[in-house]
Amino acid sequence: MRTIAVTGAASGIGAATAARLAHQGDRVIRVDLRAADVTCDLATPAGRQTAIDEVTRRCGGTLDGLVTCAGLGGATGRAASLLVSVNYFGTVDLLTGLQPALAGGDEASAVAISSNSTTVQPGWSPELVAACLSGDEQEARRVADDGASMQAYPATKVAIARWVRRHAPSPEWAGAGIRLNAVAPGLTATPLADETRNDPVLGRVIEQFPIPVGRPGRPEEIAAFIAFLLGPDARFFCGSVVWVDGGSDALLRPDDWPALWAL
Ligand code: NAD
Repeated sequence: MRTIAVTGAASGIGAATAARLAHQGDRVIRVDLRAADVTCDLATPAGRQTAIDEVTRRCGGTLDGLVTCAGLGGATGRAASLLVSVNYFGTVDLLTGLQPALAGGDEASAVAISSNSTTVQPGWSPELVAACLSGDEQEARRVADDGASMQAYPATKVAIARWVRRHAPSPEWAGAGIRLNAVAPGLTATPLADETRNDPVLGRVIEQFPIPVGRPGRPEEIAAFIAFLLGPDARFFCGSVVWVDGGSDALLRPDDWPALWAL
């Protein structure tokens, strides 16, 4: 039986992922602010350390999978710095802190959650992405609070995607037998999306957001792809960032992939 930790497991994509894994016979360690096996606040370094310690204790030091779903959307009145701490540091600190347990796992796989806002939302701040990737949380929080949380959201998700791509091929990840990848969901029907829909500023934008398949994603559809990445049929995935977004990115930026590589 595999043991897999899922953050953000109390709601939305994390809850659907935890349910799917449990249904297929995996032992799931749920991490969240509430209604979880490990209750902690991933916005703080202390809360993140609690999560790492408790997950490590509960899995006996050996973890076969990790999915980092915990996250917050941009919202009117929400500090951008909170998104930096939860979305970015709540992801990369857990990946780093649980890497030793994953290294002992059986064909271990870690899946981080990025977003298609990285490519369909214009104008994210390269300075904020760089500040996140520098690892200096206080500086990244300071840079983020120069703007609103709606602008910070895609930047935190770009930083996650880049962190995954930088680390996945390294000795500590691929070299240690751990596959590390990211999923970039499009608009998905969860409480996070409901909050966005009800936001006085973002609500109008989200209503007009084009989704070629004609509807938002379902959390179960994102969970299905996460489960695939955790499984043996995805053994050759390493450092991939995969859109699961109903076609929004392809519609808006059909020719922006691949970027030309000139030597
Ligand atoms: P959700 O709100 O349904 O679930 C998010 C979970 O994260 C909640 O259970 C919440 O309690 C937890 N969480 C938030 N702050 C936390 C903290 N400080 N400490 C611990 N746990 C915390 O949202 P969702 O839509 O399922 O989002 C899951 C992930 O998918 C997020 O990273 C989100 O950015 C990403 N995403 C969502 C969408 C979408 O449209 N729903 C699109 C792209 C990416």
